[in-house]
Amino acid sequence: MNNYDYLIPTSIQEAISLHESYGEKSSYIAGGTDVMVKIKQEKIRPQALISLRRLKGLDHITYKQGELRIGAMVTHRMMELSPIIRAEFPVLIDAVENIGSVQIRNVATIGGNIVNAVPSADGAIPLLTLGAQIRAVGPEGERTIALEDFFVGPGKTCLKSSEILSEFFVPELPAHTGAAYWKHTRRGAMELAILGVGVLISLEDDMKTCSGARIGLGVLAPTPIRAKKAEAFLKGKKLDEESLKEAGSIAAQECKPRDSIRGKAWYRKDMVTLFVRRMATVAMERAS
Ligand SMILES: Cc1cc2nc3c(=O)[nH]c(=O)nc-3n(C[C@H](O)[C@H](O)[C@H](O)COP(=O)(O)OP(=O)(O)OC[C@H]3O[C@@H](n4cnc5c(N)ncnc54)[C@H](O)[C@@H]3O)c2cc1C
Repeated sequence: MNNYDYLIPTSIQEAISLHESYGEKSSYIAGGTDVMVKIKQEKIRPQALISLRRLKGLDHITYKQGELRIGAMVTHRMMELSPIIRAEFPVLIDAVENIGSVQIRNVATIGGNIVNAVPSADGAIPLLTLGAQIRAVGPEGERTIALEDFFVGPGKTCLKSSEILSEFFVPELPAHTGAAYWKHTRRGAMELAILGVGVLISLEDDMKTCSGARIGLGVLAPTPIRAKKAEAFLKGKKLDEESLKEAGSIAAQECKPRDSIRGKAWYRKDMVTLFVRRMATVAMERAS
């Protein structure tokens, strides 16, 4: 384990200045459940860890006029226990209540999960299906980034040096919209996903015709991705067994999984067809 300075700024500006002064030799740390593992495995050797824990205004969950806002320092456990999220955004509960263990969820943050940017990040897929946006603050000010543009490679994001992810926001969803996420694993806890599938469905007033869909796929490409061809296929279709099966097959063609110790590429593709159909069915139930 290497030695490092542990810095505890109390404002975002102070954190950014500290990061600028150490440059790439420093790393922000939120809950530390990814950073500390990387240090222990000697994947990174920072000279300074800059804690985000004392920064104010990054741990909110608000829902006003249809818009959900979640601060980057909100832990998975805070999301899991949030009455707002439980009532209005069960797709997020599908994800966070299956991350690690309660001990991990008590410290691990949604911001850290997304900036860590592994293909299996469970927080990423539901936020993608919800059409989430990110607010980032850096030396040059604040900017907004669509989550779907955020991931640029395994473990890589478009955040610039010293930028801090401050919050996520989910713009108001259309009426009759529901979403669901499935994390496919070999056992029920302390397990990374073999694959993850999230589906959001918006329905016309007849509650059968799809007016819009978003499909997010995890561990099925080098980054979390959307299955845009399958989404386009669903729009305007009556949602039944046949159309959902076809959407699943199209989504399977859009992904580029690889073999790993958790599952073979062919198995992952096969499961996409199944889980797109299943999650679309749950999403429709939630929409109504
Ligand atoms: C035992 C165990 C089980 C796990 N199980 C799962 C699981 O089931 N599913 C899953 O998805 N993950 C899992 N993880 C991974 C990890 O817990 C999550 O990715 C977690 O959400 C990371 O959050 P953190 O606050 O601990 O991030 P940290 O480790 O503090 O940071 C992660 C990265 O993000 C950067 N960062 C953090 N916050 C910000 C910010 N606001 N702005 C800019 N950069 C930032 C850090 O510099 C670092 O590069 C597991 C980890 C462990 C150790």
